[in-house]
Amino acid sequence: GAYSHRTEIRGGDEIAQLGEEFNSLTDRLQVTENARRRFVSDASHELKTPLAAIRLLTDSILQTENIDRETTREFVADIGSEAERLTRITEDLLRLTRLDSGILEQAAVEDVLPVLEQVMRMMSLVAQEKGVDLTYEAAEGCAVRSTRDELYQVIYNLTDNALKYSAGAAVQVSLRKCGGQVVLTVADRGPGIPEEDLPRIFERFYRVDKARSRAAGGTGLGLSIVSDTVRRQGGTVEAANRPGGGAVFTVRWSAEEGEA
Ligand code: ADP
Repeated sequence: GAYSHRTEIRGGDEIAQLGEEFNSLTDRLQVTENARRRFVSDASHELKTPLAAIRLLTDSILQTENIDRETTREFVADIGSEAERLTRITEDLLRLTRLDSGILEQAAVEDVLPVLEQVMRMMSLVAQEKGVDLTYEAAEGCAVRSTRDELYQVIYNLTDNALKYSAGAAVQVSLRKCGGQVVLTVADRGPGIPEEDLPRIFERFYRVDKARSRAAGGTGLGLSIVSDTVRRQGGTVEAANRPGGGAVFTVRWSAEEGEA
C-alpha cells in the first residue's frame, strides 16, 4: 500500500524505540488510508445506484413507443425520488466532510432544551403520520459546548432512526443532568440491533439491513454524523439493546454552566 514502508530495526535502545514508533505510525497511516479508500468506493457505489436507476427510467420513457400518460407519470415520480435520495446522500457527505476538515463554526455554550423542543415539534408530526407514540421528558439547565446546528443534527438523527426502525412502537426521548454530565437518551421498542452489529453501526455506510434502510430513506451515514459530531463536542455516544426489546442510544456531554 501507500504507506508500506517499514524500517528494519537495529541498533541501540533509543534507536530501536524510534524505529518501533515509526512502524506503528506507518501501520496507523495504512489503516487510515484503507478506511479513506473504502469510504470513497462506498460513496461512489451509493451515488451510482440512484444514478443508474434514473438512467434506466429515462431510457424506458424515451424508448417505449406509445407510452401512456399514467406509466410516464409513475416513472417520472420514481426519477424524482431517486433524485431526492441523491440529495440526501450528498448532504450527508458534505456534513461529514465539514466535520473531517475541521472548518466549522466556533462552538459556544448552548442550552439543549430549546433545541430538543424544536426537534420534537417537527418529529411529532412525523410520528403522528406513522402512528408512533413519541414522548419526551427534559430537564432545564442542560447546557453543553456545541453549536445549535450540531445539537439539532444529533437529536434529529437519533430520533429519526428511532421512528424509522421502531415499527410503530413507542419512542421515548429524555434529557437530564447527571453528575457533571448532560445525558440524552433516545429509546425505542423496535427490533433492536443484533449484538454482532452493535460495534459497527457508527461506521460510514454500515447498515444491519441495507434494503430496509434504503426503503426507509436511509443513507447509512446518519450515525457516523452523530458520532463524529459528538466526538467533536468532546462527548460520547453509545448504542445498546434494551431489556424487553428495542434499541437505546445514549449521548453524554460534559455539562457547562448555562449562559446568564
Ligand atoms: P441509516 O440511514 O441506514 O438509518 P444510520 O447510520 O443512521 O443509517 O444507521 C445505521 C444502521 O443502524 C441502520 O441502517 C440500522 O440498521 C441500524 N439502526 C440505527 N438506529 C436503529 C434503531 N433505533 N433500531 C434498530 N436499528 C437501528
